[in-house]
Amino acid sequence: MDAAATLSKVDLLNLTRSELEAFVVGELRLPRFRADQLWHWLWQRGVRDFAAMTNLSKDLKAKLAERARISWPGVDVARTSRDGTIKLLLRLADGERIETVLIPMAQHYTQCLSTQVGCAMACSFCSTGELGLTRNMSMGEILGQIMVGREHLAQAGLPTVRNLVFMGMGEPLMNLGELLRSLETLGSAEGISIASRRATVSSVGIPQALKILGDSGLAVPAISLHAPTQELREQLMPKAARVPLDELLAALDSYPLKSRERVTYEYIMLGGVNDSLVHAKQLVKLLGQRRCKVNLIGYNPPPPEVSPNPPYRAPEPGVVLAFEEYLRSKRITTFIRRSMGQDIAAACGQLKLLAGPEEVA
Ligand code: SF4
Repeated sequence: MDAAATLSKVDLLNLTRSELEAFVVGELRLPRFRADQLWHWLWQRGVRDFAAMTNLSKDLKAKLAERARISWPGVDVARTSRDGTIKLLLRLADGERIETVLIPMAQHYTQCLSTQVGCAMACSFCSTGELGLTRNMSMGEILGQIMVGREHLAQAGLPTVRNLVFMGMGEPLMNLGELLRSLETLGSAEGISIASRRATVSSVGIPQALKILGDSGLAVPAISLHAPTQELREQLMPKAARVPLDELLAALDSYPLKSRERVTYEYIMLGGVNDSLVHAKQLVKLLGQRRCKVNLIGYNPPPPEVSPNPPYRAPEPGVVLAFEEYLRSKRITTFIRRSMGQDIAAACGQLKLLAGPEEVA
């Protein structure tokens, strides 16, 4: 069957629970319990071939194969870092490519998910931003990354994915509809079994979209702040900074949080640019009274094959420690986030569709 004919079929991975029911009952004229069975095969068992769905009749399998498809992204390249971080270069059904990263934690993996092919935000320190935006990803493509990630880990005999961060390629809140559908599907019974509250949505901060995300109650945001003043943010993230800092912070102040939740502010430390004690003091002034925590991330100059002339340099380790100490002394919960997967260009801001022929999966 040619690619166009395959693409014209309904991708079951791209249907929410209620949409799947509507398809099964309304389009296929089947009883509702068939939707339950399919949902179980799709999300719990991770089956992508109708023939393997043993409790469906031969006729039904044939009917499904004729009308529907289950499209997991294909793995073009898998690279493993010295620190155990795994980066998968994935091919979507239309041939577009994206990346997802599996980060080893003490007992499980955290998966970093992409939400767009490329990104329109063009943050000055980010390799993905250099690609520009090609298109939004669908829910099936976003959650398909988890299916592929889980299978990759299982085949390697490694622990599974427990936490998710929407922090890969793209700005999740610029693809809000599919993000919300993804979070809703994560939380549905008999589904993928990762509660959406185990998911963090990382965003440069778009007030209207934050309001909708907050009202949904589906996830807690982590905001890519990266500068303590509007002026510096405009230099580092010109598009994101079109939303003035005070407007962004006001939106976050009214974000509905449960009792133990806090907004996370991500702060990438760029050597000699935003990492001085003066910046730390400005950050305390900005966040000191807020219910928040701060993650400091040392900038990773991308490897030369990604960016031959990186625009910034890594901060000195002592400078990062002094910055953290100052924030903590002012009672701001602060963590230095270890940069994972640097040697395979899988660290924050390094995702740029890198492939090495020797590593093809
Ligand atoms: S940091 Fe995030 S929002 Fe900014 S360009 Fe990179 S992917 Fe896009």
